[in-house]
Amino acid sequence: MITSHNRAVSTLFRAFGGMEETNAADVEEITDQPAMHRGETLVFAVLVPLTVLVGLGDYLVIWLGRIPGVLLAVPLSFLMLNLLPFLLAGKRPCLQWQLWFSLSVLWAVFHSDCLGIVGFFSYIWIAIAVMTFAGSLLLVWQRMMCVSGNSGNLIRILLVAGLHVIAIFIGFKLGWGWAMMSGMVIAGGLCWAVLSPYCQWLGPVYLTTDHPRILITIDDGPDPHDTPLLLDLLDRYQTKAIFFMIGEKVRAYPDLGREVLRRGHEIGNHTQTHPQASFWCASPWRIRREIEDCQKTIMEITGIRPRWFRAPVGHRNLFTHPIATTLGLRVMAWNRRGFDAIEKNPQNVLARILPHLRAGDIVLLHEATPIAEEVLIGVLENTVAINRGDR
Ligand SMILES: [Zn+2]
Repeated sequence: MITSHNRAVSTLFRAFGGMEETNAADVEEITDQPAMHRGETLVFAVLVPLTVLVGLGDYLVIWLGRIPGVLLAVPLSFLMLNLLPFLLAGKRPCLQWQLWFSLSVLWAVFHSDCLGIVGFFSYIWIAIAVMTFAGSLLLVWQRMMCVSGNSGNLIRILLVAGLHVIAIFIGFKLGWGWAMMSGMVIAGGLCWAVLSPYCQWLGPVYLTTDHPRILITIDDGPDPHDTPLLLDLLDRYQTKAIFFMIGEKVRAYPDLGREVLRRGHEIGNHTQTHPQASFWCASPWRIRREIEDCQKTIMEITGIRPRWFRAPVGHRNLFTHPIATTLGLRVMAWNRRGFDAIEKNPQNVLARILPHLRAGDIVLLHEATPIAEEVLIGVLENTVAINRGDR
C-alpha cells in the first residue's frame, strides 16, 4: 500500500478503492510523490484549472465585459495556477494539493447560490468535500479496526455504543421514527459485518492475493480418509495449498498434520473445536480460547506457528479481529466457493467455482466431505491451466 499524506481526494480513493495504482511519470514529477491515484490526478489536473478559469472569468466578465473578460481570464488563470501555490505553499506538493482543495471548496461555499456554470462547479466541489469527509471518517474507522488486543475490543464497544448514542440523538431531534430507522441501519450493518465472510467493516480480511496464481484453501481437516488423497492429488498437479485445520482433529491425527507440512503445504488456524453455529456470537474469552488452543495444538504437534486464521463459516464478530491479531494471525476468507460442505453433486460445486476463476483468487474447499476428491480434481485441472497462463 502506498501512503500519500493528507491530499484531500486521495482519502476518497483510499477509503473506497483500497490499493492505489502508480501513475505516469509526468504526474509523479509534478507531485514529487512516489505515486498518486489516477482519479485524484484527474480531479486536480482537470477540475482545478477549470475551476480557476470559471472563478476568475466570472469576475472579469462582470468588470470588463464578456470578450475582454474571457480573454484576460486565460492568462490570469495560468499565472494564478503557477504563482499562487508557489507563493503560499512553497514547492511542497502535498501542501499545494491541500491549498487548491481548500481554496476551491471555500470558493464553492461562497458561490453555491450562483446559477449557470459557476453554480455547477461549486456544487461539484461541495460534493467532493462531502465525499472526502465521509472518506476520512471511513479511514479513521478502518484504522480503529486494526487495533489489536483489549484496547481493540474496547474501541469497538465504544464505537458501537457511539453509533447508538447518535441514533438516540437523532430520535430526540427528529422524532422516534427516525431513531428507529437509524437503529435498524446500525443493526442491519452489524448483522452484515458479522455474517458476511467478505465484509471488511470489522477488520481486514484477505479475499484475494496479489500473486498471479490461484490459492487453494482446504478447510475442516485433517481427515484420515480425505487428507492423504488430497495430498496425492495436489502433488500430481504440483500445486501447494493452505489447509485450515481444526485443533481437535490435528490432535486426533497428528501424523496427517505433519504430513501436510512435509509435502510443502501450509497449515492455518481454523479454531480448536469449529463451533460453526455459535462462533458469530461468542464472547471474547471463548474466541480467544478457540483460536489460542488451536494455535498451541498445531505448534505442539507440527512445530510451526500458523500465520493465517479462518473463522468457521467466515463469521467474525466485534472481538475476532483484535484477538486474532494479538496471536500473530491475519484473517483470510475467500472469493470463490461452491458450497461443497453441503452440496452432494460435485458438478454443481464446480459450476459455481470455475466459470469466474482467475489468477489471484482464493478458493474455499473442504475435506471430510463425500465429494472432496472430485471437486479438488475439477479445481486443480483449471487452476493448473490458469497458473500456466493458458486461460
Ligand atoms: Zn470450517
